[in-house]
Amino acid sequence: MTEGSVYLDHAASTPLDPRVLEAMLPHLRGAGGNPSSLHAPGAAAREAIEEARVSVAGLLGARPDEIFFTSGGTESDNLAILGLAASDPEKKHVVVSAVEHAAVRGAARHLESRGYEVTRLGVDADGRVSPEDLATALRPQTALVAVMWANNEVGTVQPVAELAEVCRERGVPLHADAVQAAGRLRIDVSSVPVSTLAVSSHKLYGPQGVGALYVREGVKLSPVLFGGGQEGGLRSGTENVAGIAGFGAASRLASEEMEERVRHEEGLREQLISGVLALPGVRLNGHREERLSNNIHLCIDGVEAESLVLFLDAIGYAVGSGSACASGTAGHRASPVLIAMGRGEDEAFSAVRISVGKDTTREEVEGFLGAFSTAVSRLRELSPLYAS
Ligand code: PLP
Repeated sequence: MTEGSVYLDHAASTPLDPRVLEAMLPHLRGAGGNPSSLHAPGAAAREAIEEARVSVAGLLGARPDEIFFTSGGTESDNLAILGLAASDPEKKHVVVSAVEHAAVRGAARHLESRGYEVTRLGVDADGRVSPEDLATALRPQTALVAVMWANNEVGTVQPVAELAEVCRERGVPLHADAVQAAGRLRIDVSSVPVSTLAVSSHKLYGPQGVGALYVREGVKLSPVLFGGGQEGGLRSGTENVAGIAGFGAASRLASEEMEERVRHEEGLREQLISGVLALPGVRLNGHREERLSNNIHLCIDGVEAESLVLFLDAIGYAVGSGSACASGTAGHRASPVLIAMGRGEDEAFSAVRISVGKDTTREEVEGFLGAFSTAVSRLRELSPLYAS
């Protein structure tokens, strides 16, 4: 993260925990054996991977042999959706919520281009999917459903247990993207009947470029990469040993420290929400209670989000405009998440996301509230539309 800047964009990526770095260093400095090799350096690498598998499984209430390492959340989502669809080629219908991450939306669009019919489930004004709507959308030909555990933009938590129950009753696999939820919400796949679940290391103070897919025992999933047959044949390719070791350490720390982190983040979140809502023309998006502990997502009248993000950046505060995965890409499109929640395009372009982390301090939040108020007033003064 940039030196001297207050980092309030943990939903985009979290800083590497120094304890995680320590766990990675031996694998970056050492002999670097291939985990598939039979010699001692290979065995050491294999041992590090298996140790990490236990830690990731522990964070999710899974068994280690149900965890498959990937390059991150995007790959895990794609593997789940394309892999579930391919494992039952007779079924050509899929259901995804309208507020999914681009990784799920993109995989669903790809299936659509291959002749699948895709139902996009609408959400209420808070961004929640209704279990009744899901039940109505299911057909005998439905190959899979994808609904995320918690939303990366507005922070809304879905009623995953109820949605999973609907799917289980009909025998349809449910994929849950838990990239934002893992480490913030208690996830226990032994009591919530999801079939597959995606997680990513860099959202919980681990390194970027590594993640995992949980696949419940007995769920049929076809691979999408072919090669040496690593990860039980589901994800060929020599493993990212240092990354996986870091992800394992980050998962273990998240399990141990979750309660304390969540309590800390919720305190800061409430401080931020009451501070920003004291300004006129600022509205909170997403569910008020069923929301991630670290997420504040706002629409700000008379302010264009990107100008606000750049203004705040120039005075030392890093926040996100809408979603980092959606911004910075070619073309300027309103966030489909806010549109699905019934907001207009203008509102969607005025949306910013502030996301705190385990090391954010009260003083930083106080400083931010002053900077935010100055930035909003200044940008409104410059806005002919707002003035009128
Ligand atoms: N799913 C969600 C909900 C996310 O927030 C993200 C990242 O922002 C991803 C998937 C993609 O994860 P990764 O960056 O590890 O590919």
